[in-house]
Amino acid sequence: MAIMIVDDSEVVRSVVKKSLSLYGYHEIMEAEDGEDALQKIKKGPGKVELFVLDVNMPKMDGITLVGEIRKLNPSTPIIMLTTETDKSKMLHAKTLGATGWVIKPFESEKFIKVVEMFLKKV
Ligand SMILES: [Mg+2]
Repeated sequence: MAIMIVDDSEVVRSVVKKSLSLYGYHEIMEAEDGEDALQKIKKGPGKVELFVLDVNMPKMDGITLVGEIRKLNPSTPIIMLTTETDKSKMLHAKTLGATGWVIKPFESEKFIKVVEMFLKKV
């Protein structure tokens, strides 16, 4: 089972990936926007055990992607990476089915705590 990171910033993706690998999570899938993510999800259904999504991305943003993921998979946890100013978007994401969020910039340790909280719930 993999953790999928969806962010249009390669830097953020690599920071998230590094944090995860520090704590022993090495099976990572990456996508650079919502469309790319959906294509990859549809190619390997059931492979992802946790999603980490950016909010603002080109082509398809993270909020829309939450809705699309929920059509395919009602229960996989979805953590949103957000900024302080995204609060109204976060409420929208929650309504659509996002399960948690982490505010950028974040410390690895805090991020992993959220990740592990959701993985244990599964
Ligand atoms: Mg972005």
